[in-house]
Amino acid sequence: MTDIEPILFPQLEIEGPLVIAGPCSAETREQLLDTARELASNGIKVFRAGIWKPRTKPGGFEGVGSEGLEWMKEVREETGMLLATEVANKNHVEEALKAGIDLLWLGARTSANPFAVQEIADTLAEHKADVTVIVKNPVNPDLELWIGAMQRIYNAGIRRLGAIHRGFSSYGKHLYRNMPEWHIPIELRLRYPWLPIICDPSHIGGKRELIAPLSQQAMDMGFNGLIVESHCNPDCAWSDAAQQITPEILNFILGTLVIRDSKQTTESLTLLRQQIDRIDNDLLEILGKRMGVSREIGRYKREHRMSVVQAGRYNDVMRTRVKLGAEMGMGEEFLRTVLLAIHDESVRQQIEVINDRSKI
Ligand code: PEP
Ligand code: MN
Repeated sequence: MTDIEPILFPQLEIEGPLVIAGPCSAETREQLLDTARELASNGIKVFRAGIWKPRTKPGGFEGVGSEGLEWMKEVREETGMLLATEVANKNHVEEALKAGIDLLWLGARTSANPFAVQEIADTLAEHKADVTVIVKNPVNPDLELWIGAMQRIYNAGIRRLGAIHRGFSSYGKHLYRNMPEWHIPIELRLRYPWLPIICDPSHIGGKRELIAPLSQQAMDMGFNGLIVESHCNPDCAWSDAAQQITPEILNFILGTLVIRDSKQTTESLTLLRQQIDRIDNDLLEILGKRMGVSREIGRYKREHRMSVVQAGRYNDVMRTRVKLGAEMGMGEEFLRTVLLAIHDESVRQQIEVINDRSKI
């Protein structure tokens, strides 16, 4: 993946981030055209709509299918916008190519499945397709799987290739519908600096209020664009209602975005700082885990009436860790200070456990 065209739409003159907007799903001709007209009048150049919808469970709205492609063509005729839709199998690709869709995207459930991606890639190759293809991250946080999906598309001859960061599924309730795990797209950027990466704040956030902050965060991190779900009447949307916004609100949000200097130097600095942030979080998490084990030891010592500090053990820990850290290139003085501080806090936690039964 080296001779990629980093501009997804050479036919468009776009200053600043690329914005792709439109409803989660094409529902009716009126809904599609009403939404498209408003978006176009606000300067949006690329229109998205799901024609075939991958739903988690049966029974949901699964898209209008090929009929919607006719409405998409009307959108292009009337507004001049370029068209984007999701494809998940051979038939989708063939229908979309026939309708002249300009951008095909692979959804998160599709990029997680190498058989499906290969089928799409083979179909693109068979038709010598001249389209832009962007690949959403797989549902699971697996960078190699994401890269592998893009390699399959690249090997099919597609050069206008990009990635969409839409967050990762996780179990349980969280602030985000799909966890952003920003370090993953950052690593993708570090490994393939020429690959355009677009952020999907709608599917990361899952709610309207998160679209503005997530979009700003994406801009701050040097993403090349946004794909945002926008619907003329979001509350009545047949899919993903909670996360869709009107074209008017989208226009307002885009107007508030601060686009920072994206020169390579500051962009790289931002990426490195994001790595530092991530590492610091990992450090804190690991320290927290270590303190949990200390409290466990505290319980053991209480039951066995042992003293908290046992000098022999402490000296061993200090000696072996300082040696290891020094081999990694860190100063001995620094290592002693850090290890002593960690030890002090462990002792404090153990004493707390021993003296306070309510916190056990
Ligand atoms: C979508 O973009 O509407 C969609 C189905 O997204 P994802 O593949 O990210 O879930
Ligand atoms: Mn959606």
